[in-house]
Amino acid sequence: MSIEQELTAKKINPTAMRILVFKFLKKQKGAVSLADIEASFEQSDRVTIYRTVKTFENKGLLHSITTNNVTQYALCAQECDEEHHHDTHLHFVCRNCKKTICLTQVSIPKIEVPIGFQLDDIDVVAKGVCKECKS
Ligand SMILES: [Zn+2]
Ligand SMILES: [Zn+2]
Ligand SMILES: [Zn+2]
Repeated sequence: MSIEQELTAKKINPTAMRILVFKFLKKQKGAVSLADIEASFEQSDRVTIYRTVKTFENKGLLHSITTNNVTQYALCAQECDEEHHHDTHLHFVCRNCKKTICLTQVSIPKIEVPIGFQLDDIDVVAKGVCKECKS
C-alpha cells in the first residue's frame, strides 16, 4: 500500500503535509512528542502540525502515551479506526535512550472498575532498558 492509500484507508484526506508527517512517523523507532515533530518540520507552522497529529489520532492512525506529563504519539495497529482504538498494549520506556516503545505483543488485561466509576484511560508504562541498548 502506498502512503496515500494507507491514509485513505483510515479516512484521512492525503494532503502534502499529512503525507510528510506520516512518513516521518513511520521512520521512528519509538513514540515521538509534538516537539520532536515540530523540530523536524521547522519550516511548517505549529498549528498545522498540531492539527495534523490530532486528525491522525482521531482517525485511528496514532495513539498517545502520556508519561511524566509528556504526551508522545505512536502509530496505531491496523485495526484502529475513527470509532475505536485497540492499543491496549504495554509501553516500554528505556532509561538509557529515553525512547518510548510500543510492545504490541504484550497486551494489558482488561481492567474493571467498580460500578459508579467511569474509566477513561489507564497509564501503564514499563521501565527498563530496551533491546537495542542492551545489546
Ligand atoms: Zn489506535
Ligand atoms: Zn534504549
Ligand atoms: Zn503503543
